[in-house]
Amino acid sequence: MKITFWGAARTVTGSMHLCEAGGRQYLLDCGQFQGRRKEAEQLNKNIPFAAADVAAVILSHAHIDHSGNLPLLVKGGFQGPIYATPATVDLCHLMLADSAHIQERDAEFLNKRRARRRAIGADAGDREIEPAYTLEDVEHTYPLFHKVSLHEPKEVGPGIEYRSYEAGHMLGSTFLLLEAREDGKSVRIVYSGDLGRPGLPIIRDPEPPPAADYLVVESTYGDRLHQPIHSVAGRLAGLVNRTYQRGGRMIVPSFAVGRTQQLVLLMHELIDAHRIPAFPIYVDSPLALDVTEVFRKHEELFDEEARRFLANGGEPFGFKRLTYIRSVEESKALNDLRGPYMVIASSGMCEAGRILHHLKNGIEDPRNTILLTGYQGAETLGRKIEEKRPAVPIFGELMRLRAEVEKLDELSGHADQRELIQWMKPIAAGLRKVFLVHGEPDQQAALKDALEERFKVEVEAPERGQAFDL
Ligand SMILES: [Zn+2]
Repeated sequence: MKITFWGAARTVTGSMHLCEAGGRQYLLDCGQFQGRRKEAEQLNKNIPFAAADVAAVILSHAHIDHSGNLPLLVKGGFQGPIYATPATVDLCHLMLADSAHIQERDAEFLNKRRARRRAIGADAGDREIEPAYTLEDVEHTYPLFHKVSLHEPKEVGPGIEYRSYEAGHMLGSTFLLLEAREDGKSVRIVYSGDLGRPGLPIIRDPEPPPAADYLVVESTYGDRLHQPIHSVAGRLAGLVNRTYQRGGRMIVPSFAVGRTQQLVLLMHELIDAHRIPAFPIYVDSPLALDVTEVFRKHEELFDEEARRFLANGGEPFGFKRLTYIRSVEESKALNDLRGPYMVIASSGMCEAGRILHHLKNGIEDPRNTILLTGYQGAETLGRKIEEKRPAVPIFGELMRLRAEVEKLDELSGHADQRELIQWMKPIAAGLRKVFLVHGEPDQQAALKDALEERFKVEVEAPERGQAFDL
């Protein structure tokens, strides 16, 4: 068996790992690279291997940085099955369509800007920008999805099978055990996908991994320790009350899938318990609304607490003060609203989407609070806000950052260093090597040191394109 790391190599984006066994190629995840436009475009449009030669794709979960390049793979000639859990397949339908929509809109915006520049005689380049893929490409991808339940052994080719386990990262998320038998010997690889943390609202905790020879593990928070999860409700209540007393708004950039539903449930519980005032909350995202429907369809994946909430007649994702917003007009109308309210909108790293309008309108008002709920990639607007830079660019205009900035690390969908170590502890002694993926170099260096010291295991942080015989 051979593995080549084509994405999420010393970075957190574009997860894509190619495995070769028995003369066939299998892809673990097919994620979109997100980052600076030119670099991202380059990496996404040029898939570094022959898409038509890939026999099958196994998908760990639905996030775009793990699934977003599937339509490109199909466009490039891939015809095989895409295996994923039923919830992941349902979510991918929505998220890939949304991704195509964003890319079509971005291309349109850039071409218009180019035309304007050309009209005033400025150098604008002569290349018409095309979206990486369109809704039509996404529709060609749908029929290739195959639903495979958690724990169900699935033979994907001669002598190679996989099995998925709960990763506790988002609805439907899994980590994978891949087992290849060649020439009478077998190789077992565990691929963590994105690994969640125990105790997150709604979703279940990560399962312990099965024994393996090799571990490919994410390292997003390889050098960090999160706040304990039980403190999240109290901290959120404190922030809400403080902002409410100032008469400010809470502006919450959030990932439409997962984080938004968790926040909504937390707010619901806090209002029910009279720990915060029952003030208006808006989820300003058509995608979040659709995704919430998928959540409702997959109650079997909920944790004990969310099930209890349902059993007591609670409606976790809907309550009196909560409004889901679909139309652009309603979204714009929020800007003129007086008095405290909370608006949750994507994208989570503030790179695109409706959150930009809410930030533009609220970032200079010191009564407001910007609440970050997840990982902020290098160079993103979210990271600049997180670093509390005095001024940040929004729609090309520098704006003063005067709103309060807070982070709810507790809701992070990614395990911290201690949780990663705890998770792999049961299988560490049997591992021949650990490969770190999905992390920035300093996070990986810290995790490598910690793992080598703790488990005396060989740890590698592969570069993009680096291949290993296993
Ligand atoms: Zn993810």
